[in-house]
Amino acid sequence: MDKKPLIIANWKMNLLLNEEVGLAKQFAVKLERFAEKAEVVVCPTHLGLIEVSKILKPTKLILGAQDMAWGENWALTGGVSAGMLKDAGARYCIVGHSERRRNLGETDDMVNKKALSAISHGLTPIICVGESLDERQAGKKEVKVISQLKAALKNIKGDQPTVISYEPIWAIGTGIPAEPSEVALMVELIHQTLVDLFPLDLIMKNFRIIYGGSIDSGNIGDFLKLRYVVGGLVGTASLNLEEFTKLVQVTKLSK
Ligand code: PEP
Repeated sequence: MDKKPLIIANWKMNLLLNEEVGLAKQFAVKLERFAEKAEVVVCPTHLGLIEVSKILKPTKLILGAQDMAWGENWALTGGVSAGMLKDAGARYCIVGHSERRRNLGETDDMVNKKALSAISHGLTPIICVGESLDERQAGKKEVKVISQLKAALKNIKGDQPTVISYEPIWAIGTGIPAEPSEVALMVELIHQTLVDLFPLDLIMKNFRIIYGGSIDSGNIGDFLKLRYVVGGLVGTASLNLEEFTKLVQVTKLSK
């Protein structure tokens, strides 16, 4: 498995197709030279996947998707399966992002089904876990994250690449990242939970833990210094070419 730091650009629902194509072209020019040292994954909307795939194909940048449905060829109106994402050129897929859990009622069981389906199609799932502000203030963040993680990993053997993204909900899109010391404790807990579930050699080989929540070029280095954190899921800062280029450049130097 590639142990380069992993930086994932999550464009969410921010850009029209021509804007996604434009930004992808600029990423291809600006970020290619860092791609030996950092693995950069770009996640456009489903509508942008095909065009962005064509742009990234001749580069070392990698295509990811923001979400998927589980299963194949069943009557799910609006669904896009892991097989379809693979066919479009994606190698990664975010599953269980808190925005989908919160706004669309996605459950732990759905996240697990997505992760299993991604793995069975050779897509690497980026499984998001994280507590809300209320849960944090009530002293329940550890319980919440462990339960989300165990549920998401149910029936997963650990023999395929899998990314766990620790994303405290209160730090996403707020411009207020978690303190690195707090992230350190939570990723250690995530690592420990993996140890409870899988043999160590499989964890070392197949699992990567990253952080997400208001990452920018000024703070990414602090997170990458942490034991167990090997990358970041980046929303807002990935929409700004200059800022994201700086962020990837810092990443290359930090780990
Ligand atoms: C995210 O998209 O998961 C995210 C962490 O967004 P932001 O970087 O804007 O906080």
